Amino acid sequence: MDTDDEPSSSSSAAAAAEAEAEAIRAEPPRIRRLEEAVVNRIAAGEVIQRPASAVKELVENSLDAAASSVSVVVKDGGLKLIQVSDNGHGIRYEDLSILCERHTTSKLSAFEDLQTIKSMGFRGEALASMTYVGHVTVTTITEGQLHGYRVSYRDGVMEHEPKPCAAVKGTQIMVENLFYNMIARRKTLQNSNDDYPKIVDLISRFAIHHTDVSFSCRKHGANRADVHTVIASSRLDSIRAVYGASVARDLMEIAVSDDNPARSIFKMEGLISNANYIAKKTTMILFINGRLVECTALKRAIEVVYAATLPKASKPFIYMSIDLPSEHVDVNMHPTKREVGLLNQESLIDTIQNAIESKLMNSNTTRIFQIQAVNSSSASQFNSRKDTDCNTSTPAIKSQKVPVNKMVRTDSRDPFGRLHAYWQDGQCSQDGKKSDLVSVRNAVRSRRNPKESADLSSIHELLSEIDSNTHSGLLDVVKNCTYIGLADDVFALLQHNTLLYLVNVVNVSKELMYQQVIRRFAHFNAIQLSEPAPLQDLLMMALKEEDLESPADENDDLKQKIAELNTELLKQKAEMLEEYFCINIDQDGNLMRLPVILDQHTPDMDRLPEFLLSLGNDVDWENEKECFQTVSAVLGNFYAVHPPFLPNPSGDGIQYYMKNVDKMSTDEDAQNRLTNSEEDVDYELLAEAETAGAQREWTIQHVLFPSMRLFLKPPKSLATNGTFIQVASLEKLYRIFERC
Ligand code: ADP
Ligand code: MG
Repeated sequence: MDTDDEPSSSSSAAAAAEAEAEAIRAEPPRIRRLEEAVVNRIAAGEVIQRPASAVKELVENSLDAAASSVSVVVKDGGLKLIQVSDNGHGIRYEDLSILCERHTTSKLSAFEDLQTIKSMGFRGEALASMTYVGHVTVTTITEGQLHGYRVSYRDGVMEHEPKPCAAVKGTQIMVENLFYNMIARRKTLQNSNDDYPKIVDLISRFAIHHTDVSFSCRKHGANRADVHTVIASSRLDSIRAVYGASVARDLMEIAVSDDNPARSIFKMEGLISNANYIAKKTTMILFINGRLVECTALKRAIEVVYAATLPKASKPFIYMSIDLPSEHVDVNMHPTKREVGLLNQESLIDTIQNAIESKLMNSNTTRIFQIQAVNSSSASQFNSRKDTDCNTSTPAIKSQKVPVNKMVRTDSRDPFGRLHAYWQDGQCSQDGKKSDLVSVRNAVRSRRNPKESADLSSIHELLSEIDSNTHSGLLDVVKNCTYIGLADDVFALLQHNTLLYLVNVVNVSKELMYQQVIRRFAHFNAIQLSEPAPLQDLLMMALKEEDLESPADENDDLKQKIAELNTELLKQKAEMLEEYFCINIDQDGNLMRLPVILDQHTPDMDRLPEFLLSLGNDVDWENEKECFQTVSAVLGNFYAVHPPFLPNPSGDGIQYYMKNVDKMSTDEDAQNRLTNSEEDVDYELLAEAETAGAQREWTIQHVLFPSMRLFLKPPKSLATNGTFIQVASLEKLYRIFERC
């Protein structure tokens, strides 16, 4: 019988289809029952998708048979031969005749048993499937027998009576010529990469989880096994044997559990990589209730924590074994049982994410402590250097925030800047600058590789200040709140238990970004600017914005001078800014790169001039700790989610989108124009504002709030400065409504 997999009959099939199409015009086609062999082969193709899936089924059978030793031999990536031998309980003589029929199993009898099933197999399909797409030979002996039996199968049935033979304890199953009757499948597998690496990977995973079983896997004819483990005393030992000492060295144990039925019930234990582990790809070995499975949502969630917490966003190595009540897992979701369904998956993932995050944070601190002791000299060198740098400690006057409805948009490339730049000095000696530069360079050089040289005590102090200043009540709100939506341009609405809060998104994001800069210190990924941004021009832009009031050109020379000095200062600090903050400024005074502070988030480039000016004005370059703190704060301010530049077009905001509106005209004029004609509306600008607004809202909901839940340690000040405002208690509201 032909199946879709056989192209050999395609021309005759085309002719038949033609004839059938002809017939269809006359009457509906007959519905026929497919021959059982066809049905079985189609089903077999689903269960046994590739050689590695056959190996997985065979090894799982061995484990179900309580084997303590499993060895695998593979030829031609499994297409020529797969042989799995175990020392398990074997198969009874009287069962051999139905062993490879579909739906014959020793593991399940009633559907309800599925709820409590502990074995890996239960469908009774794997061996049968293999006989439909390959040649299967079984050799087995049960306890107390003098000899074993050997028998071959094809299409579900025995080819001959079982033959007595000599055998060692257990079962050996051999699958030859896999997909011999599925030409298309065989071809794609031959063309695609050999399945052998997949098989090695699979056996490695089993070996790590089943420390009480010894595994080996080798190519047919090879002397050396590619995986070889003995029964190990610890999981770490088996990881060392399989993945090498360098991986095992960088792992730490983790365990977490939950037994709150309202959230989820589970126990997890595992090993996860620490800050020293470096890899380009994530290795995630996941067992749920003893089954090797995949869970993309969990994997992504863990990757997010690593990316946000650790240096250079190295991908993690994760081994994790999760146990849930069996009635909470749907094992029957997928023919290959590769994926399982979990009850309360979201909450389970959340709990695991939090556990990993705190583990990583703690391990980070430990690392800093360890290295601190060795390298305190380089830190003190930084502190004690005589900084004769230009004095920029002039009181930087922070202007009042202009309410968004007072802002006037002039040109998208000419953004607002509201910091007053007062520049005194300019008398610093060149020598002074030079020696400063040298000392910074030296300090920087001595820590070129932060992993091996130094982590700075000042950053450690800033981190512990964040910790000790955390408001525990707010922390609870932040960790366990539900995001409801934006109330206006600045406030978002959150629910925590039965309380509603208005939260100032600008303040919260500023703090979050600041904390993330300190946490990622010296370990940033970079945002490359599409073209170099000249500091001089950007600073001029910012200075002009500062000074909108005074007539054009007045003080321009002074501004030019200030911009020049600022550029010079930032160029001098370039090496330090690059090394620790990933703010890259080239020799010609162009900004080239900025740091990634939160994944999936870039700052609003309209604020770039203001940021650079603030870097010049608001940073304390004198003292190491203050310097790091102020640069972090300036970065935090730049990356924060600010109110949109373009006013919200709904309601009154619409007047900002009228064409040719004289911005100085009276409100009355604007009002008249509003009613005049729709033609006056600048639809392009309006569309831009709407897109920007939607993007901003998306970022707040999907980037800012999830990261805030994970990382923010709200300082006490946020409880009193109007950042968190409790607006209603649902219980009280409910009582009011009840009376209505
Ligand atoms: P399932 O594992 O879903 O029961 P399989 O087709 O994989 O179905 O196997 C059918 C049956 O064959 C199993 O239920 C088991 O009783 C027996 N069997 C298969 N492999 C082995 C083995 N290596 N050792 C002992 N029994 C085995
Ligand atoms: Mg099985």
